[in-house]
Amino acid sequence: MRVIEPRQFESIKAEKKRHSTSKKGKRLIIILILLGVSCYGLSIRLDRSQPEKRQAQDEKATEDSATQSDEPKRLKTFSGEEFKKLYSSFAYPNTQMLTEKPAITGNKQADARIREIAESRGYKLSSVPVANIVKTGEPGLTDDDLIQPNALIAWQEMKAAAIKEGIVLQMTSAYRSVDAQMALFVRRMNNDGVYEESVAAGFVDDRVIKLLTRAAPPGYSRHHTGYTVDLACDGIGLDAFKTTSCYSWLSKNNYENTKKFGWVPSYPDGASLQGPEPEPWEFIWVSTYSLYE
Ligand SMILES: [Zn+2]
Repeated sequence: MRVIEPRQFESIKAEKKRHSTSKKGKRLIIILILLGVSCYGLSIRLDRSQPEKRQAQDEKATEDSATQSDEPKRLKTFSGEEFKKLYSSFAYPNTQMLTEKPAITGNKQADARIREIAESRGYKLSSVPVANIVKTGEPGLTDDDLIQPNALIAWQEMKAAAIKEGIVLQMTSAYRSVDAQMALFVRRMNNDGVYEESVAAGFVDDRVIKLLTRAAPPGYSRHHTGYTVDLACDGIGLDAFKTTSCYSWLSKNNYENTKKFGWVPSYPDGASLQGPEPEPWEFIWVSTYSLYE
């Protein structure tokens, strides 16, 4: 029989404890390794299952490094058709498309005839603000004196940049409601001696066409969005605006001075089927998002 002395017993106990601790330790290490491997596997699977996310992250990283570089961002150059495509497809914030075509004269047949001719000339139904828009604060502007808030900031920035170079831009019109456009259109119609009965009968199409070169039917004005403005220069607006120093400043180098602030020409040279005849005094805010390389 083996007699175990108390001290010997203690050392056997300690030995056993050491043994079981190291066993536990090994088990823990194995568990940790297995956990590590499975987490790694999971992350690879997750990563593989989200290629778009990875691509977006890569693109963001590239963008970030581009932003960090000292190279200034370059403005894109647009042809007339490209400008048109840009402002036609831009998702204007705080607006929604008109759900139905507004009345023009109230005579259904006449209205349908006017719309048909207008749409064949390239007029497009507009979107309108959904929430409040703000006062332009422009001196001398009483009608059409509201504008979308982000367009107002961009306008003030562009105007300030122009003043630094001795160019004084004036705004003569911003947002116009459908009702205001209706009143304007009917007034011009009647001034031209065009009345709904003869329009409905199809007798005066040529006169309607002439009218449409200068006035949009209600629902079709670009001013309905709150992102379109008409400009003047030292009191000179409309067709003569093209001869002013303001127009030269705005349009030089493919509209460099407007694009910097998110504005583009509403009637750039080379864009076809624009609705009315070209209006060089009109500009549209589309943000700077698509304007830089
Ligand atoms: Zn206009």
